[in-house]
Amino acid sequence: MAGIYVHIPFCKSRCKYCDFYSTTLLSKRTMYVKALLCEWEEYKNRDMLWQHPKTLYFGGGTPSVLEPQAIKSIIHAIEPDDDAEITLEVNPGDLTRDNLRELCLIGVNRLSIGIQSFHNSLLQLIGRRHSAEDAKNVVRMAQEEGFNNISIDLIYGLPGETMEMWESDVAEAISLHPQHISAYCLTYEPDTILTHLRDTGEIRETYETILNDMFDYICSILTTNGYIHYEVSNFALTGCHSRHNSSYWDFTPYLGLGTAAHSFDGEKRWWNPADLQLYIEQAQTHTLHREIEVLTAEQHRMEQIMLGLRTSKGIDCHLVEQDKTTSYLNNGFLRESSGHYIATQRGLHILNQIINNLV
Ligand code: SF4
Repeated sequence: MAGIYVHIPFCKSRCKYCDFYSTTLLSKRTMYVKALLCEWEEYKNRDMLWQHPKTLYFGGGTPSVLEPQAIKSIIHAIEPDDDAEITLEVNPGDLTRDNLRELCLIGVNRLSIGIQSFHNSLLQLIGRRHSAEDAKNVVRMAQEEGFNNISIDLIYGLPGETMEMWESDVAEAISLHPQHISAYCLTYEPDTILTHLRDTGEIRETYETILNDMFDYICSILTTNGYIHYEVSNFALTGCHSRHNSSYWDFTPYLGLGTAAHSFDGEKRWWNPADLQLYIEQAQTHTLHREIEVLTAEQHRMEQIMLGLRTSKGIDCHLVEQDKTTSYLNNGFLRESSGHYIATQRGLHILNQIINNLV
């Protein structure tokens, strides 16, 4: 069953490491929601595949800059399945207790909270607006208001971050008892402020050996605490994996609404213009100009390898030439189980290299 992603491209300010498509033009929010509803009308009247989706995911940008009533209008129009997973990405500091209560009442049943770190010095360095205290408060308030499916995002390898700081971040995260934790390694994307600071020598990139130690640490401590490591960056208590994100990794069709949003129907991908004003104008006049790519069988196979090897399910052995896997199997980077190749903990350290060699 399909899922729907709704892109909310607004941020109150830009974080220094971010290269996602987003804008600080908050005054366009009302127009944008209208445009989203127009775009949805197009699909709703045309294609059964997207009716009553099993998952609905509000990502960004910062979806929590929208009023709960705006979120409600979108949920109401899309009419997700009765037991759909409805996720809202949230930045600490954006939501009041009343907002959280309202979101719970309108059907949002999963929050993905962008905490990144519990160290204020690191948060300031990367341009996050919230503090560690804001982060802890929003998790506790959400739990008190009835949310029982909460995910926390952390980033490791921040400039100047020591192993001790990372260990205390992970301990703080566990102490909040979220159902799900995502841990991403900081990447220096082109044309971001952080990359500029690195290139001018003002900050230093973390050594790869330390990044590997940080990764091994969180894998080990979360597994000990009952979290299942089901994707390279994602850990969940039993039954609490992200149903929406899992659909990307196993090739379930998904529809993306909003500027820069991507869609996939099992055969082709298409995406909307990454331009807020253009998107608003075209969506409202039902003239959205989307780029389309039809996947060849070879592209399909390569994507299955790229996405599947990131997960604990791995990939069907038939997807790759057997002689390419021999040394990885012999050296403990891959293991074979029930006709699948699965990356081991060692293998996850060199995952990109393995993928490049197998595709
Ligand atoms: S809040 Fe998220 S989307 Fe917005 S700038 Fe920061 S990292 Fe990027």
